[in-house]
Amino acid sequence: MSDAADVLIIGAGQGGLSASYYLMQAGIEHRVLDRGEIGHAWAAHRWDSFCLVTPNWTVNLPGRPYEGKDPDGFMLRNEFVTYLKDWAASFNAPVSEGIDVTRVTPGQSGFRLQTSRGEMRTRAVIIATATYQHPKVPAVATRMPAEILQLHAEQYKSTEQAAEGGVLVVGSGQTGCQIVEDFLREGRKTYLCVGRTGRLPRRYRGRDVLFWQRDMGLLDRTPDMLDSPADRFIGDPHLTGRDGGATVSLHDFRRRGVTLLGRLTDIESGMLHLKDDLAENMAFADRFCADLIARIDTHIEEQGIEAPAQTEAEFTGDPEAGVPLPQTPGTLDLVEAGINTIIWATGFTYDFSWIDDVPTDDLGYPVTDGGASPRTGLFFCGLNWMTKRKSGILYGVDEDARRVAEQVGSHLGQPCVNCL
Ligand SMILES: Cc1cc2nc3c(=O)[nH]c(=O)nc-3n(C[C@H](O)[C@H](O)[C@H](O)COP(=O)(O)OP(=O)(O)OC[C@H]3O[C@@H](n4cnc5c(N)ncnc54)[C@H](O)[C@@H]3O)c2cc1C
Repeated sequence: MSDAADVLIIGAGQGGLSASYYLMQAGIEHRVLDRGEIGHAWAAHRWDSFCLVTPNWTVNLPGRPYEGKDPDGFMLRNEFVTYLKDWAASFNAPVSEGIDVTRVTPGQSGFRLQTSRGEMRTRAVIIATATYQHPKVPAVATRMPAEILQLHAEQYKSTEQAAEGGVLVVGSGQTGCQIVEDFLREGRKTYLCVGRTGRLPRRYRGRDVLFWQRDMGLLDRTPDMLDSPADRFIGDPHLTGRDGGATVSLHDFRRRGVTLLGRLTDIESGMLHLKDDLAENMAFADRFCADLIARIDTHIEEQGIEAPAQTEAEFTGDPEAGVPLPQTPGTLDLVEAGINTIIWATGFTYDFSWIDDVPTDDLGYPVTDGGASPRTGLFFCGLNWMTKRKSGILYGVDEDARRVAEQVGSHLGQPCVNCL
């Protein structure tokens, strides 16, 4: 492999491959580098029972929108990785696997990359490494008794990794809730420290919630429409595609035997200290769901859409009338509760510190104009909320990748005519 290319793309997930697709169309010489294989993040960092959270029809990759038999289904992890690899092969994406890029340094007329295979040079770089670089684990984890097995969700594969006895999942975002589901199905005693996350019905008035979100333009929201730039990083509402998709709800978890707890604030001599915010956070999730449902109803009415009334099945996940929201205990003794495993489903942090002189905003997030950094020759693709809500998901990456390829073409003096 040559150590120079007109364009180097870092990351062979949907972001990097989509950019590669359009550069191929334009005849722009490039390589895609990945520390793992194509789809490494999906293959290596998601658990065995994982399946897409967004329906198959949202797999809207350039030149390969989903055309299979089950548009409303949810591909399993391995099916999706195969889908990505087949798609990359279909346009001969020039991917070099097993190359870790450790530093990107701008020079006079391009960039130098330090990699696990030596130095490389390029005229332009596209960073397509998403925003999940490092697992976030709260500082209290260091005070956990040594005999408790601790895993971050990124390392979690299946319930078999857990020690005998009870399991505590900390974090009730999409990932935490899906891991809880794994343990519930195994009949394991499961505890969940609940945070502030919205919930969504899987289906409402005959359609998947993603259909309504798309139809109402919610996936096309731009970052300036948010109350605060920090809202770009709020965890996604509870949702799962497992077994064809179902509503995930803390009320259901409680009915099925999960012990819900407030936020974990400290650990002292094997004693968990918990915030008294469980009822408040459950009420938040319920309000979130009620607000979206009200917006969908208004949308249906305003647009004159023919949609059936809500069915009994679509109510799944709602609180039971007359049952008060649970209170959390202030403390919980790990030994008394029989908890031997903790799974930190506490999210990820992004890290662009390995790119020298990268212009970022106050939150350390790259600043771009449609994917083009103010640093000439530096581009991004697939970042969460890069241009719109849908930038960081399968449904929206095509639009951004096309624009990025056009800008790369202009930068190289090689207009991307075929992209248009
Ligand atoms: C748990 C989870 C579930 C998700 N489910 C869905 C879903 O159902 N539907 C949906 O639309 N979106 C989903 N997303 C969001 C998004 O689609 C995925 O995160 C997707 O993987 C992002 O694609 P990407 O190409 O931008 O980045 P990634 O898929 O993360 O790919 C980045 C690639 O870059 C490589 N890389 C990173 N750093 C370096 C480096 N320094 N050197 C070399 N290689 C490097 C990695 O190995 C990786 O292969 C989910 C996200 C998470 C975290």
